[in-house]
Amino acid sequence: MAITQIHPSVDNGVKPGREQFAGGTLTCKCSDRPVKVKVGAQTAHNHVCGCSKCWKPKGALFSMVAVVPRDKVSVSENGDKLAVVDATATIQRHACKGCGVHMYGRIEDKGHPFYGLDFVHTELSGEEGWSAPVFAAFVSSIIETGANPANMGAVRARLNALGLPPYDCLSPALMDAIATHVAKARGTLYAGA
Ligand SMILES: [Zn+2]
Ligand SMILES: [Zn+2]
Repeated sequence: MAITQIHPSVDNGVKPGREQFAGGTLTCKCSDRPVKVKVGAQTAHNHVCGCSKCWKPKGALFSMVAVVPRDKVSVSENGDKLAVVDATATIQRHACKGCGVHMYGRIEDKGHPFYGLDFVHTELSGEEGWSAPVFAAFVSSIIETGANPANMGAVRARLNALGLPPYDCLSPALMDAIATHVAKARGTLYAGA
């Protein structure tokens, strides 16, 4: 694996999304009876993710994952092949039992800051125009799945060169959104002086 092989969808440069894009169909990697999931909207907050839980294509250091309202996600074919990878995880990743690809991740905890959003890998769609990735999350975590710690400088430099600022958690905007949700729930949200 090249030390800076981030993800096939970005390794040759990040492709911009299309403004009027309205969604498409995700297909798993099975040649026989592939699972199909219809996504009826443009995605948001697309990013590459270094965590150990997201599905990654072979040889990639990162996954690429975006969110979309859960009511826009529906299984259209061969849903009987889907199973939840880890029912105790915050994000329930519905994966194909045949090829292992994660078709969508769903949060069932109504109190979670991202409740109402599903996580999807738009590279599973043949359509072009999905929102482009805009940052890299959980970069340090790639070490946990076997990346050489000595190469992290090169990996972060490559991410910066691709226009994907590297963070070791989520992006500042998303971390602020999570903290705002927590402050609201606790009644401690800033209300002005
Ligand atoms: Zn499959
Ligand atoms: Zn992840």
